[in-house]
Amino acid sequence: MSAKGAPAVDRFSLPDPCGHFGPYGGVFVPETLMAALDELHAVYSAARVDPGFQSELRRHLSEFAGRPTPLYFAERLTRHCGGAKLYFKREDLLHTGAHKINNAIGQALLAMRMGKKRIIAETGAGQHGVATAAVCAKFGLECVVYMGAVDMERQALNVFRMRLMGAQVRSVDAGQRTLKEAINEAMRDWVTNVRTTHYILGTAYGARPYPEMVREFHRVIGIEAREQILAREGRLPDELVACVGGGSNAIGLFFEFLEEPGVRMTGVEAGGRGIRRGEHAARFAGGKLGVLQGCKTFILQDPDGQIEATHSVSAGLDYAAVGPEHAYYRDLGRIEYAYATDDEVLEAFQLCSRLEGIIPALESTHAIVHALKRARALPADKVIIVNLSGRGDKDVQEVAKLIGGKP
Ligand SMILES: *Cc1c(COP(=O)(O)O)cnc(C)c1O
Repeated sequence: MSAKGAPAVDRFSLPDPCGHFGPYGGVFVPETLMAALDELHAVYSAARVDPGFQSELRRHLSEFAGRPTPLYFAERLTRHCGGAKLYFKREDLLHTGAHKINNAIGQALLAMRMGKKRIIAETGAGQHGVATAAVCAKFGLECVVYMGAVDMERQALNVFRMRLMGAQVRSVDAGQRTLKEAINEAMRDWVTNVRTTHYILGTAYGARPYPEMVREFHRVIGIEAREQILAREGRLPDELVACVGGGSNAIGLFFEFLEEPGVRMTGVEAGGRGIRRGEHAARFAGGKLGVLQGCKTFILQDPDGQIEATHSVSAGLDYAAVGPEHAYYRDLGRIEYAYATDDEVLEAFQLCSRLEGIIPALESTHAIVHALKRARALPADKVIIVNLSGRGDKDVQEVAKLIGGKP
């Protein structure tokens, strides 16, 4: 679809009061969680229009997280591609290393408003767990993080970081022993301890109000990027590119531009070892409508509706379902979706490190792969912004293993 053909969008009309983005979203949880979700929705809705809450949030985003993040012109990568100008939105420079802290701070403030002093979270790559552990330490909240046993091994350094900051990390041994099982355990804990506990979900996913609330906490990415590109180039970008796990960094960047028909947007999923059953996590390249962990959306599943095993070189994109707002905008044709394979990602990871002096997170590198293709295809007067959702320090050990120790 050409950018000029972008359909008209009313971005604030969604979700509806029941949490639906068209046929997607909603509330699919055990009865015992309904009251907690309603309370969260009410407290969040009030905080959203409360200037006191917003100024406190802004202060922590600035002093603790390090906002605003720069918009960086990737000059050598641009020259390497010989086409459109590439800019990086530098979420990798945030405290704890990724965009996740935007949402973790916001939800911790809401938890305190609800008088809840115990926080639970789930984590895949460990980035959301680290961000949550950091805000809990800062605000003096008890913190329990659920993590699949496989992920704990892959991301041992992040496990140690969380423990350093006082969090209890609980290993989950069920199933594939990754993110999906960690979410199940977190939900189980929440059902049991709902009166004292807030669940800080790490992406734009799950039951109402999470997808909308998490989006709102990340909207600052797009708000800043819009101002910064206008100051730098005097106009809006031609294309935006972001990786899509649950979809929070992508919708955070895209939301501010949804009603600009001249801005093309692409979300990039994990193509893993290729689009074959169990070998990838590209929900829009093989997924079907279903319900998982709180909402209705696109899910990788077998013909019986069992959740398919997934694979990605990046733990943060290794999830069988995608946020409901993305499914909606994909149907509408407003956001396009592509995927990058593990091999492409490992190559771009090294290229970006070598040419820019920036080691990107493997998740973010999926977006870079697609942006490099687009930069080559477009003339030099075009502008692309890539959301650099996180830094790659957490990944260097894994990459060294995969490429045999020598770049
Ligand atoms: C968690 C994570 C992602 C994936 O999550 P989204 O909600 O899709 O943004 C992407 N990049 C980094 C660096 C992450 O830590």
